[in-house]
Amino acid sequence: MDKINEMYTTVNANVHRGVHFLSQAATDEHEASRRTVQEFINAVSSDEIVFTRGATESINLVASSFCRNFCREGDELLITAMEHHSNIVPWQLQCGYYGLTLKVLPINADGELILAELEKKITSRTRLIAVTHISNVLGTVNPVDKIVEIAHNHDIPVLIDAAQSVQHRKVDVQAIDCDFLVFSSHKVYGPTGVGVLYGKEKWLDALPPYQGGGEMISSVSFEKTTFNNLPFKFEAGTPDFVGTAALATALRYVSSIGLQNIDLYEHELLRYATEKLLSVPGLRILGNAGDKSSVISFLVDGIHPYDMGTLLDKMGIAVRTGHHCAEPLMRELGVEGTVRASFAFYNTKEEVDLLLKGIERIVKMFH
Ligand code: PLP
Repeated sequence: MDKINEMYTTVNANVHRGVHFLSQAATDEHEASRRTVQEFINAVSSDEIVFTRGATESINLVASSFCRNFCREGDELLITAMEHHSNIVPWQLQCGYYGLTLKVLPINADGELILAELEKKITSRTRLIAVTHISNVLGTVNPVDKIVEIAHNHDIPVLIDAAQSVQHRKVDVQAIDCDFLVFSSHKVYGPTGVGVLYGKEKWLDALPPYQGGGEMISSVSFEKTTFNNLPFKFEAGTPDFVGTAALATALRYVSSIGLQNIDLYEHELLRYATEKLLSVPGLRILGNAGDKSSVISFLVDGIHPYDMGTLLDKMGIAVRTGHHCAEPLMRELGVEGTVRASFAFYNTKEEVDLLLKGIERIVKMFH
C-alpha cells in the first residue's frame, strides 16, 4: 500500500512513451518489477514475463493465441479433474471455436492425479496440457515436473496454473521446465488486478498477439502493423505499472521471509489443524494427498457448508464455502460444496484453536 501511494504521488506518468523524467521513472519501475518477477520464478529472461490482469487473463491469453496458431479440428487439449474454472472455461471456449476435444486426467480417492492415466490420455492429437500446480480445493500438490517430462517426451507443451503455489513454495520455471506458467498478484500478497504470464521465449515468439492497441506495436499504418518485441507484443494498452511495482514489493517481502520458511511453518499449521479438526465427530476432510498445501476442505455430517460458513463468520472466522470455482471437481467428489480453511504464514496455532472451538460450538447447535 505504501508502494501504491508512492507511485501515484511521485511517479504517476505513463510508461514507455514520454522522454520526460516522470515517464522514464515509471518505465524504470515497471521494468524493474518485471525483473523482480523473473528472479522470483527463475525465468531465463525478463522478456518471458508478461503482465496481465490475473491468472485468469494469462490463461485466456495462452488459450486464445495458442489454439489460433497450433490447433485444428479434431485436436485435443488435456486438463485435470481438479482445475479451477479459469483453467477449464478458456480451453472449452477454444474447443467450441476450433472443434477441439477437452480431455480430463482423473483423480483418486485421496484427491491426487492418477499419473498412470496420463500416457493413456495423450494421443497424437494432444496439443497442450494445462494443469494446476496446487489445487485450491484439496491442497494437492501435483508432480508438475513429472507431468512436464512425460508431456515433453511427446513434444506437448505444458501450462502450469501456479495461482495457488507461488505464495506457498519456491516455484522455479527452469527446474519445472514448463512452457507457460501463470499466477495472480493478489494471492501472493500483492494488489488485485495484476497477474503474470511466464512463457518460454520460443513459445511467446510463436504465438500471435492476444489484444491489439498501443504498446504492443512497433509500427502501424492503415495497410499493415508490425508488432513489438517480447514481452510488449502481449501488453496492449497502458499497463498497471503501479500494480506491478506493488507486486514486486510483495514478492521481495515474501522472499525476505523465505519460501522455505513459509513452507515449513504452513506445513506445521496444516499438520496441527488436520489433527484438531479430525477430532470433531462427523467431520470429514476432502483431499488427503501425500504432498499437500495448507488448505483444508471439510464437511461435517448434517451441516450444510453455507450454514457452517455463516456461523463461523459470526464468530469472526473467515472460511470459504461452496464449490470454490471448481464445479466439475465437486461433482467428482460427489458433494455440492465444502467449507475450506486456508492457512497462510501469518496464521497461528491459536487461530486454529479458535476455528476448532467454533466448529465444535456449531456442531453442538445442530445435534
Ligand atoms: N487458478 C487457481 C488454482 C485459483 O485458485 C484461482 C483463483 O482462486 C485462479 C486460477 C484464478 O485467479 P484469478 O481470479 O486471480 O484470475
